[in-house]
Amino acid sequence: MRVSKIYAPTLREVPAEAEVVSHQLMLRAGFIRKSAGGMYTYLPLALRVLKKIEVIIREEMDEAGAQELLMPILQPAEIWQESGRWSVYGDEMFRIRDRHSREFCLGPTHEELVTTLVRADVRSYRQLPLNVYQIQNKFRDERRPRFGLMRGREFIMKDAYSFDRDEAGLDASYKSMYDAYTNIFTRCGLSFRPVEADSGAIGGSGSHEFMAIADSGEAEIVFCPECAYAANVEKTELFPIEVSSEEMLPRQEVVTPECKTIAAVCEFLQIPIEKSVKAVAYTSSKGLILCFVRGDHDVNEIKVMNACGVSEIDMAPEEMLIASGTVGGFMGPVGIDPQKVIIIMDNSVMNMHNFCCGANKKDVHFINVNPQRDFAPTIITDIRLVQEGDPCPHCGGKLKKARGIEVGQVFKLFTKYSKALKTNFLDENGREQPMVMGCYGIGVSRTMAAAIEQYNDSNGIIWPAAIAPYEVLVVPVNTKDEASTAKAEEIYNSLGEAGIEVIIDDRNERAGVKFKDADLIGYPLRVVVGPKTLANGEIEVKNRRTGEVKMLDLAADYVSEIQAMLALYNRE
Ligand code: ATP
Ligand code: MG
Repeated sequence: MRVSKIYAPTLREVPAEAEVVSHQLMLRAGFIRKSAGGMYTYLPLALRVLKKIEVIIREEMDEAGAQELLMPILQPAEIWQESGRWSVYGDEMFRIRDRHSREFCLGPTHEELVTTLVRADVRSYRQLPLNVYQIQNKFRDERRPRFGLMRGREFIMKDAYSFDRDEAGLDASYKSMYDAYTNIFTRCGLSFRPVEADSGAIGGSGSHEFMAIADSGEAEIVFCPECAYAANVEKTELFPIEVSSEEMLPRQEVVTPECKTIAAVCEFLQIPIEKSVKAVAYTSSKGLILCFVRGDHDVNEIKVMNACGVSEIDMAPEEMLIASGTVGGFMGPVGIDPQKVIIIMDNSVMNMHNFCCGANKKDVHFINVNPQRDFAPTIITDIRLVQEGDPCPHCGGKLKKARGIEVGQVFKLFTKYSKALKTNFLDENGREQPMVMGCYGIGVSRTMAAAIEQYNDSNGIIWPAAIAPYEVLVVPVNTKDEASTAKAEEIYNSLGEAGIEVIIDDRNERAGVKFKDADLIGYPLRVVVGPKTLANGEIEVKNRRTGEVKMLDLAADYVSEIQAMLALYNRE
C-alpha cells in the first residue's frame, strides 16, 4: 500500500467532542468518522485492525471447537416475546416495523435467535455439545453512547453460544471459552485480567469479564495482591462486620437541625461515623426501595437490583418519600412498614448496636437504634459497595482497586433460555431435557479502542504488532533523490514479498511531516531510506514502542532482521 493512495485523512487538531485518548487518536489518525451519535464508519486503517482482531478470534474459537455461522441482524419480536425479554429489554433496544406492521428489533444480542434455531434442528443428545459463534454488528440504543468506539450504539461483537447436555458439559464449554479468551486477548497484546462478574440482565449465575486495565475504563474492579481473587466491584462479596457486644440502650429522639448528610449528623452529635446508618432511596418497578448501610459504607446498586429482582432503579423523588412516611435527609427504618416499602438492610447493619439514623421527620434523628428490637427489614443481605482495603473474601488480604474496560464476558446461562423457549433434547433414556447453555461475547471494536487506551504517547498510537494496520512503514526521506527513492521501492517490495505488511510513504512531503504521521498512526517499525545512510549501505529502523534506532546493513539479510524485530516487538 502507498500512503499517497490510502484513504486515511489525518487531522491536526484534537476534535473537541472526543474525551478519551482512543477516540481522539482514531479521529486524528484517520481511522474513524462519526455518522451519528455512537455510530462510526471504519476507514481502511481501522478496518485492517478490526480484521486482524477478527482473525485472531476466529483462530482461537475454531481451535476451541466452536463453529462460525451468521444470523440475521433483524429479529422478529415474537421470539423475544416468547422469552419474555421484549418488554424487559427497554429503551436500549432499537425497534422497527415492516410494511405489514410486524415488529422487529435490531439485534442487541442473539440468545433468542440462536436458541430457536437450535430448537428446530437439534433433538438428540448425540448432537451435543454444540458451540456456534458469529462476528457481526450489534445495536444498542445506549443511554450514554460515548468515548468513541468504547460505547457505541452500533458496534462489532463476536458472540458465541454453547449447548450442552448437563452442567458438567457447560463447565467444560465455559472453561474452553475462558481459555480461548485468555489466548485472544494475549495475542492482541492487551494487558488484561479476567474478573468475577455479575451476570446482569442476561441472567443465570457464573460469569467472568475480561477487563483491559486502563484508567479511562468505565468499570471498576478489585483484586487481591495476596491471592488470585479479582472481581468487578458490582460483584464483590463482602463479609459483615462482627456482631456488637454492646448492651442495647433505650432508643432516643434527637433534634439535628439542618444536618442533611450522615457526616453532618455525626459531627453535630459528636459520634463516630461507624455508629451511624445511612439511607439511600430508589424508585423501581416494585415501588420504593429503602437501603441502609453503615454511615461510612456505600450502596452497591447492582446488589440492590439483584436482591429486589428488578432490572432498573433510579433515585427516588421526594414526593415518593413523603408518601411513604419519610423525608429526604432524615430517612430511617423505624416505623416504616416492610410490607409496603422494600427495606433492605446490609448484613453489617444487623450486627450493629446503638446506632444513629434518621427518624423520618425533618430535623430529627434517633440514637441507640437496635436491629430486631426497633425495626423489621424486608430483606437482609449484602448490599455494600467494596472499598479499597476491604478484606479479600478468599484470603482476607487487603483488596486493591483498578479501572478496566470490559472487552469480553463469558456467562453460564444454564437453562434460562432453553426453558423459556422450550429447547429440549432427548437423553440416552429417551427423556426430554432442557439444553444447558452458555454465552460468550467479545467487543471487537471496543478491543481496538482498548488497545489504543493502553498503548499511546503524546505523538500518537503505539499498536501492538499483532493488530497494527501495517507492520512496517518505509519512508524515502527525499523524494527528489532518485537513487534513494528507487532503493526505498526495492526495500518495500522485498519486505512485501517476505509476507510483511508494509506501506510506503511515497508522498512528496517533508520528512518531518511523514515522521509525524508515522508516529500518529503508530506503525511498529519505521524504515528510513535516505542518501546519507545509503552512502554507508545502511537503512535506519526505528521502533515505535521503545524509540530505539537500529542501523541495518543492506548487504546482509535485512528482511530477516526486520522479521525478528517484529517478532520481538511486543515482548520488549
Ligand atoms: P457494558 O456493561 O459495557 O454495557 P455489556 O455487559 O452490556 O457491556 P455484553 O452484553 O456482555 O455487554 O456484550 C459483550 C461485549 O460487547 C462486552 O464485553 C463489550 O466488550 C462489548 N460491548 C457491549 N456494549 C458495547 C457498546 N455499547 N459499544 C461497544 N462495545 C460494547
Ligand atoms: Mg457484559
